Amino acid sequence: MFEKFLVGKTAVITGSNSGIGLGVASRLARAGANVVLNSFTDRDEDHELAAKLAAEHGVEARYIKADMSKADECRALVEKAGRCDIIVNNAGIQHVAAIPDFPTEKWDAIMAINLSSAFHTIAAALPMMREAGWGRVINIASAHGLTASPYKSAYVAAKHGIVGLTKVTGLETARDPITANAICPGYVHTPLVEAQIPDTMQKYGMDREEVIEKVILERQPSKEFATTDQLGDTAVFLCSDAAAQITGTTISVDGGWTAL
Ligand code: NAD
Repeated sequence: MFEKFLVGKTAVITGSNSGIGLGVASRLARAGANVVLNSFTDRDEDHELAAKLAAEHGVEARYIKADMSKADECRALVEKAGRCDIIVNNAGIQHVAAIPDFPTEKWDAIMAINLSSAFHTIAAALPMMREAGWGRVINIASAHGLTASPYKSAYVAAKHGIVGLTKVTGLETARDPITANAICPGYVHTPLVEAQIPDTMQKYGMDREEVIEKVILERQPSKEFATTDQLGDTAVFLCSDAAAQITGTTISVDGGWTAL
């Protein structure tokens, strides 16, 4: 699994200047793929992340700024990449509020970034994959693509939506050497999750271990976070020949969450 079997392929990973996206980019680069990192910022450190991956893994790595809330920028990202053998739709945001209080602009932003962006990048990438004669569509959904929680209406709707989009993409590419799948993580240890711990400790008067076990990982039976490397390695597996007949489906990496 760790041989460099992706040499010569190019992977475009949306929302990849931190967290899961960066973890996936790093594992795909380790497997030999050239990678295109993305987010909506254009800072020196964004470009430095790409340079670091290139130096570490001996691949080509670029950072391309594109705002995944905008249809034309989603399509332009794939076009600017020049080729796109692997598209990883990972960019995502969250907002938590009861439905009557959920701000319309937050609903629209979550739908655009967490769901519609994947439609646009896939639409731009499929002709390139067909031309190249090989392709992988990997959508980072969530346990919330298969189950629900209160107060996360937009997120849960968008993640269920991306699971549906994955199925349709799998069917439309079933006769091509292309697969489309969604990875459904439970809680993953990312800077975003780490940042919630101090506030939650204060709110509930708990220590760090209690917050992790009783609050954050309440629904994750393993009581352990998934790691960004595990998510990255799942994406690498989906790119392998072993996964060539896995399409239009979901792979959960959730410590048993969706078995409950
Ligand atoms: P993160 O905040 O570290 O990563 C989100 C990425 O999306 C960042 O790189 C951010 O810059 C980018 N992004 C946000 N808005 C964007 C925009 N308009 N245009 C381009 N890029 C944009 O969070 P993460 O935890 O790594 O989440 C990555 C994905 O994994 C998301 O889709 C999230 O829903 C999903 N996920 C995360 C967890 C978890 O526990 N962390 C669990 C299940 C699913």
